[in-house]
Amino acid sequence: MTNEELWQTVSSQIQLNISPANFATWFANTKISSVEDNVVTVSVPNSFSKEWMEQKYHKDIFKILKSLDENIKDIQYVVNPVNIKINVGGKKGLKKENSIEQMGFSELEVSKETNLNPKYTFDNFITGPFNEIAYAAAMAVVEEPGKSYNPLFIYGDVGLGKTHLIQAIGNKIKENDPDKKVKYIPAEKLISTIVNAIRGQSVEELKKNLRNIDVLIVDDIQFLAGKDKTQEEFFHTFNSLYQKNKQIILSSDRHPNNIPAITERLKSRFGGGMIADINIPDYETRMAILKQKAEEKGVVVPADVLEYIANNIQKNVRELEGAISRLIIYKKTNGKTVTIEDAKKLLKNIIVSPAKVTNYKKIIEAITEFYDIPFGNMFFSSRKKEFARPRQLAMFLLKKELKMSYSEIGRKFGGKDHTTVIHSCQLIEKEDEENEKIHQEIELILQRIYSK
Ligand code: ADP
Ligand code: MG
Repeated sequence: MTNEELWQTVSSQIQLNISPANFATWFANTKISSVEDNVVTVSVPNSFSKEWMEQKYHKDIFKILKSLDENIKDIQYVVNPVNIKINVGGKKGLKKENSIEQMGFSELEVSKETNLNPKYTFDNFITGPFNEIAYAAAMAVVEEPGKSYNPLFIYGDVGLGKTHLIQAIGNKIKENDPDKKVKYIPAEKLISTIVNAIRGQSVEELKKNLRNIDVLIVDDIQFLAGKDKTQEEFFHTFNSLYQKNKQIILSSDRHPNNIPAITERLKSRFGGGMIADINIPDYETRMAILKQKAEEKGVVVPADVLEYIANNIQKNVRELEGAISRLIIYKKTNGKTVTIEDAKKLLKNIIVSPAKVTNYKKIIEAITEFYDIPFGNMFFSSRKKEFARPRQLAMFLLKKELKMSYSEIGRKFGGKDHTTVIHSCQLIEKEDEENEKIHQEIELILQRIYSK
């Protein structure tokens, strides 16, 4: 077996057990560069991948290699020699010592040159299973802007750290190399800038400015939906930067495929690099975030209070932050330790009801019971209105309550296309807003779901 075949076999077995995103992140641009004295040398694109390989995949890789050739004694991972120069002085672990100083960071000014807010750094960015892929991809981009993942596309719900992460990338790249031209632009700003340039006939100048950039970061790119002129201009800017190996970083509240009214060619550009999502933080990470935020402000909050918050705010880092800030202000003005009772009172606006949890089965059951239809009929592709409607509602609630992806929902309903699912969800969402009767109906179903 050649080295290539050997690695191919290993990769394809690994691929069976990990998510496509993980696989793309860690196994792209890897290969066996040599096998000598029964030691296999795997070359990886950057030092962050090296760390990850060693820590997360080594055991599996070793087992598979051993099963293919039992003489193999060890594996070593080396950063692809071509890139070694760039890696000098790269990631050296996170600095924690200045976290107290960061207290006043929110008052620091946004840089005029880059438009970046210095408060968003990697040092104060907590990672966990919910964001580790996005984080890893971000680190790879910092190490080699324009080379590892281009574009880097980060998506996830509001308040989960997209802006923080993509600004941290910009800040770090600038710190590593102050000569780099980094620009952060929220998509709304990009739109208005382009529209104004078109009006003022200064498009050429704007183009020149944009194409001069080394690292372009556009936040909340979903706002380009339906903005044809902006999309057109952005497409050209994108291509021009991309061709020059300049790094492009994008964020969105949804997967590129789910951004409505965006041209196919832009969509395919967005998906042409690395797409990483940020999910909902798990309990451990929520606790870590709360602890860090309290520490940053130099305040000690009792563990049971932190636990109370972590148990009750689950879906949004911004809300976690808001909760802890309220308690800290309370503590500072009253000078006494915050108790659980204080916390409950102070946070009652944020924490509306006790932790709501549900699952797929409960949602479908509640709907079928409500409409009095057999469970199985939910999934038939029947055009009968009596089933069509509950089905649309189910799609809507699976999205809203479980944050399932559109394509996942489509699969549950007999392989429906994700655009059909998006359409159903949008339809119900609109009715929920505009029609009081429907709204009540949904409320009742929700009550059922959560009382199960
Ligand atoms: P998004 O852009 O996804 O809506 P933001 O980046 O604005 O979210 O994050 C909301 C708030 O939560 C910010 O103040 C940010 O600093 C904080 N935050 C989000 N994720 C993290 C994290 N992983 N570690 C520390 N703070 C975080
Ligand atoms: Mg944001």
